[in-house]
Amino acid sequence: MDRGGLPPAVALGGGRRIGARAIRSVLRRPGLRERLALAMGAFVVSIGVGLTLLMEWRLAAGLRESAQQRLEYLARDLSSRIGEDLRERRLEVSRLALVLGSSDVLNSRAVQQTLDGLQTRVPAYAWIGLTDARGHVLAGSGGLLSGVDASTRPWFLGGARAEFFGDPHVAKMLGPLLPPERSGEPLRFFDLASPVRRPDGTMVGVLGAHLYTGWIRTVVERTLDSRIEHFPLEVLVADNTGDWLYKTSPDLSATLAALLRESPPTRYLLSSAKVDLPTEAGKLAWTVLVREEASDALAPVYENRRQMGIVVPLLALSLAFATWLIAGRLARPVERVADAARRHAATTGHALDAHVAGGRDEARLLDLTLQRLALRDSLTGLINRSALKQRLALLQRAQAVTASPAPYAVLLLDLDDFHMFNNARGHEHGDQLLRAVAERLRQVACADTVARLGSDEFALLPGLPGGADEDVAAHAQAYAERVVAAFAAPFELPGGAHRCQVSIGIAVVDAAATLPEVALTEAELAMQEAKRLGKGRVVVFDDRLQEGLIAQTRFEQALRAAIPSQLLVLYQPQVDREGRTVGAELLVRWKHTEQGLVSPAMFIPVAEQTGLIVDIGRWVLEQACRQLRAWSDDPLRRHLVLAVNVSSREFGHPGFVDGVREVLAATGADPARLKIELTESALAADVGEVVARMAALKSLGVRFSLDDFGTGFSSLGYLQRLPLDQLKIDQSFVRGMLTENSSASIVHTVIALGESLGVEVIAEGVETEAQRQALAELGCHHYQGYLFARPVPVEQLPL
Ligand code: C2E
Ligand code: MG
Ligand code: MG
Repeated sequence: MDRGGLPPAVALGGGRRIGARAIRSVLRRPGLRERLALAMGAFVVSIGVGLTLLMEWRLAAGLRESAQQRLEYLARDLSSRIGEDLRERRLEVSRLALVLGSSDVLNSRAVQQTLDGLQTRVPAYAWIGLTDARGHVLAGSGGLLSGVDASTRPWFLGGARAEFFGDPHVAKMLGPLLPPERSGEPLRFFDLASPVRRPDGTMVGVLGAHLYTGWIRTVVERTLDSRIEHFPLEVLVADNTGDWLYKTSPDLSATLAALLRESPPTRYLLSSAKVDLPTEAGKLAWTVLVREEASDALAPVYENRRQMGIVVPLLALSLAFATWLIAGRLARPVERVADAARRHAATTGHALDAHVAGGRDEARLLDLTLQRLALRDSLTGLINRSALKQRLALLQRAQAVTASPAPYAVLLLDLDDFHMFNNARGHEHGDQLLRAVAERLRQVACADTVARLGSDEFALLPGLPGGADEDVAAHAQAYAERVVAAFAAPFELPGGAHRCQVSIGIAVVDAAATLPEVALTEAELAMQEAKRLGKGRVVVFDDRLQEGLIAQTRFEQALRAAIPSQLLVLYQPQVDREGRTVGAELLVRWKHTEQGLVSPAMFIPVAEQTGLIVDIGRWVLEQACRQLRAWSDDPLRRHLVLAVNVSSREFGHPGFVDGVREVLAATGADPARLKIELTESALAADVGEVVARMAALKSLGVRFSLDDFGTGFSSLGYLQRLPLDQLKIDQSFVRGMLTENSSASIVHTVIALGESLGVEVIAEGVETEAQRQALAELGCHHYQGYLFARPVPVEQLPL
């Protein structure tokens, strides 16, 4: 594998370093994806822990209950089995006593055999013996204690009267004669005795039996063995004094009372039952106690906890990983947008709330950024036009409810010659200048509202002392003069210091009644007036401007109504060096009902502003094409080329190319006889787009002339890319060429340029023969001007 030429160790080390860096960055500022994965992991863990606790609680309750039931059942079972066993022993002893009493001779030998037989059958008997009526042992099992005087023994004394149950005890005489306990503990016995009577009731002896207390173990073990389930249990049997007769674990030191007192038992679950002994109640009140370690009873709970301890983390890890994978798709776009928002805030220099910028809450970050984008200008951070309008609307609403609404002033600022700075120094420097201007406006305006409305246009909403309109206007004017003065100092930009002037228009409006749009329009008109008057000025919108505005609106309306019924075209011939007409330029006129013929210089700019030029241009184009079609059958005129003027707004219109194609097709005019005059401003748009449009028309056969050439800024490189047929020297140069060197040299240059580009050059505005002569000497052989003819109706066009 290629590791980019690095030795393996370095490559791996690098990988590890990158991994560590990634982990550190995630820990420092986890992305949305990691946070979702962590949240999922934490969620699963908490659900898992909750479920485990719930399960444990339910399970533990059930287990405790069933263990308790089990213990109670066992304690009862054991106590009844011990009682049962004792009852059987009592029956054996009393039955044997009955048999012995009814036999005539108590032959000690025969009796001993019987006793031995019984002991062999029931190993619980440690010893069984028969005494005579005075207490001398006549016979004993295993031949033990024969002849011994037992008259003082409790079993004899008790048994002589009735059936006897003794207390467990250590037998002094018998104990040493028997094999000891395996544990080394002293042997303990429990006595049973029954009187031996003749059928007439005379007591002739006592049959006494000593049971090993160890017999209880046999009963317990038998009982425990018979159970189906085996749990680690402890069984304890205590006599009526509380001494242990039997215990599973020999080292238990606690007393019965202590065990029973402990309630609830901490370490154990326990249950006890009284042995149902066949004797005077209370005397042999034995207690069976069964207990189980709670941890044994609850073992399934711990097992469940252990399993959940493995399952839950595994589940959490896998779900967190799955979330991480899935969230990658969901979170990536959100994170990208959030990053973009952060970058946006950083480049525009707007501080975001640290928490928000830290990225903990993408939604809030996007919200803030969208708000900022919607209401703030991204370049300067000032509020934008919509935000300013909102503020003006708020102001209007607030004033509408006050008793005496005060007028307020809006200042509209426009940098003078900004586009020239932009063209000369580039857009980046242009942006820097705009930012510097915004900063200066902020300083001058202090707490007042500053907005950027677009391009190089700013607005100020100064907080001024109230009063009548004139007072507010005076204050606003003084304020604006301060702003103009603040622009006197140059702006320090990376490319060098730059001085820049500003034109300011002021509108003083009735806060309650004037719409924000109207206030801004009035300020804009005032600003345009300031520009017209010579820049770096302040103009307050007044009645005069108001009237101008009204007149302009009327003019617009009249122009709209005039298309096409009040339009007409005049033709001005274009001639060659012999003075022969080779074509003509169509020049539109407006036959105004009151003002007579209106010059295009008056209405074309308005038509361009309002977009009406598109309709006008279409109408002129139709006239030209119809005329060409009409001339196509006229041998004297079929060679004439007609030129139409197309303004930048028309040429930039998306339907322009198709419109020309349609008109040509509809009229049947020869496209090669149609020439489109464009000015340099029409070509100032996106060069690729301009070339594409021109090429599309060119492919139809249409020609192009560059009108008013020399007044714009076209570069040679740019001109070379355009499919031009003609350059038209602007009339101002023609007019000045005989008197001013500069004009003469421009004319000279244009003609030379035409030659080098291989395009025809025509001079317009040729008024004198001297001009024509001079042009001809320089090599320009096509002319248009009053020298040959004024614009005339088509019928009067000279040939
Ligand atoms: P232009 O295209 O440069 O047209 C030449 C202008 O110079 C015309 O003014 C014409 O009457 C005038 N002129 C011609 N010979 C002489 C001369 O020897 N001396 C003097 N002093 N002037 C001369 P006009 O007709 O007033 O047109 C003014 C401008 O209006 C035109 O300049 C053109 O830019 C625009 N225009 C005229 N008709 C149309 C049109 O149909 N569409 C568009 N878009 N613009 C038009
Ligand atoms: Mg023209
Ligand atoms: Mg011209």
